[in-house]
Amino acid sequence: MTSNADNIDVDALERKYAEEREKRRRTDAMAQFQPLQGRFANFAKDPHADPNFKRDALNEAVDVLIIGGGFAGLLAAGRLREQGVKRIRIVEKGADFGGTWYWNRYPGAACDVEALIYLPMLEELGYQPSLRYPNAPEIREHCHKLAERFDLYPSALFQTQVLSVQWDEQRKRWDIRTDRGDLISARFVVSCTGLLSNPKLPGIPGIEDFEGHAFHTSRWDYAYTGGDERGNMTGLANKRVGIIGTGSTGIQVIPQLAAAAGHLYVFQRTPSSVDVRNNGPTDPRLLETFKPGWARERRDNFTALVGGEHVPVDLVQDSWTDIIRHVMPRLENGTPVVDADAVRLAEMSKMEAVRQRVAAVVKDQATAEALKPYFHYFCKRPCFHDEYLEVFNRPNVSLIDTQGKGVERITARGVVVQGREHPLDCLIFATGFDFLTEYSREAGMEVTGPGAVTLTKHWEEGRRTLYGIMTRGFPNFFMVSIAQAGAAVNYVHTADEQTKTIVHIITEGLRRDVATVQPTLEAQNEWVQQIVDGAAGRQAFLETCTPGYYNYEGQRPRHVALNDFYAPGPMAYIRVLDNWRQKADLSGLELALAER
Ligand code: NDP
Repeated sequence: MTSNADNIDVDALERKYAEEREKRRRTDAMAQFQPLQGRFANFAKDPHADPNFKRDALNEAVDVLIIGGGFAGLLAAGRLREQGVKRIRIVEKGADFGGTWYWNRYPGAACDVEALIYLPMLEELGYQPSLRYPNAPEIREHCHKLAERFDLYPSALFQTQVLSVQWDEQRKRWDIRTDRGDLISARFVVSCTGLLSNPKLPGIPGIEDFEGHAFHTSRWDYAYTGGDERGNMTGLANKRVGIIGTGSTGIQVIPQLAAAAGHLYVFQRTPSSVDVRNNGPTDPRLLETFKPGWARERRDNFTALVGGEHVPVDLVQDSWTDIIRHVMPRLENGTPVVDADAVRLAEMSKMEAVRQRVAAVVKDQATAEALKPYFHYFCKRPCFHDEYLEVFNRPNVSLIDTQGKGVERITARGVVVQGREHPLDCLIFATGFDFLTEYSREAGMEVTGPGAVTLTKHWEEGRRTLYGIMTRGFPNFFMVSIAQAGAAVNYVHTADEQTKTIVHIITEGLRRDVATVQPTLEAQNEWVQQIVDGAAGRQAFLETCTPGYYNYEGQRPRHVALNDFYAPGPMAYIRVLDNWRQKADLSGLELALAER
């Protein structure tokens, strides 16, 4: 296939994509990144918490212990409360609820999925977001409202990290130990430790030598920059500021930095695709126009459409749904006609439009060329922003393109790219987070089940779960996670449905007074087989992609298929959970009653 109406030479582009991919392949792949531990522990410090906070250690017994106070933790706890479960404890590392929205307070942070479908329980709370894609403080505030609505503050232990979760076979209880000396005994544990929550730094040679000020975007240091989440960072005036990373975070924060810094150096390894956002205030009377049940209908509609299902209407109508409508197989008499060439062409023409947008906005031609992304649209999380590209027309902003190689070295004075040192006062790492690494690394704790088997050992040969939320051999232990589950663009949707399912099992378990509940081997094997069978297509696509966290930086780990998602799609996954809950027979689970 060579050309079409858009003048797209598909074969030439495939060659260009492959060339760009090869430039970026590295033998150290995921190992190029460092967690914020040991010599980098300072980077992990919470700038929003009281460093002198102290409290007495607790020794208590609860029905349910929830680890993490982000959306998933709030939803799990809120729904348990709704079901009348009173003895709940929530352990959270931060000093408040909010999860990702507690930590990510960089100026410009906003949700990248429409808030009407992203924020949970809008209908129950009667809340209407002020903007289509509101900023972090409003989202954090929504988390606080959820916590208040379900009276969760008295149940929370903030600034507390779970160190270990250990099963006591005799008592049929989990014993949870924390870094504040707590010992909590729980019948059930729900791990809501989040996705993309462990920040990572690139292991660039010399990273420890930098003598200026440095921090990760998820630990924004307003004491240094001045200002707040709305901007006004007066502390950066006259400063030479560098930022490494141009993913979703970099795109949102760079316009704010450009407005504040004396000079901003943007160190780019791979340009993101940046499409229009069209953000703006929501109509103040919007909620009045919606019928009861609107929130679920709107969410389902988006997840189905963006997940590739054919739905008669597009309720959200934004850049996400626009892309999908463009690249989806067309319908004939209600049946999808999958014409792989047509889909590929549509996807490439979408990316071409993104490149043309760069050329139309960015005046300097060399800079514009460097900002054009050359990879398949879904190889990386698409970005949307209305001010990002314009930033590169400012005289105080320099794009330092690393030609796919990344920053070469960091020195005491600054950052070196292609042999040239760029002196800096401040260096900001927008270098992302761990994604689907080993569970214990991702969750920052080890779980030890019956027979003293750790979850790490149990999953040595890859994850095995039922619906992504439970694993046989670890009774009464639940996870909110996307591995072996539906991977929705709107992650909160998946988390919401998983917590409904987990709460359904726990409340039923409490009602029946079970000692343990876990998946049967048969049900788990069947689910795992479905995941493995469906993984090949996505994995083959990811092989064609430029490195990034989606494809483990271009090097498949062992048992990669076991980290995969439910292939029929995120909405199909949600229907599986929904139907299963409706049946109310706990099929696929093995229950042992408590001894009397
Ligand atoms: P990403 O992992 O997407 O981006 C990391 C960036 O750092 C990439 O541009 C990467 O380049 C760059 N990088 C890494 N190492 C080097 C190096 N040695 N030299 C130069 N550059 C380097 O992290 P983000 O925090 O941006 O986003 C992670 C995810 O979090 C998003 O995909 C999204 O799912 C979520 N998110 C959502 C937001 C929202 O809803 N509003 C906002 C922010 C994040 P390269 O691409 O070459 O690897």
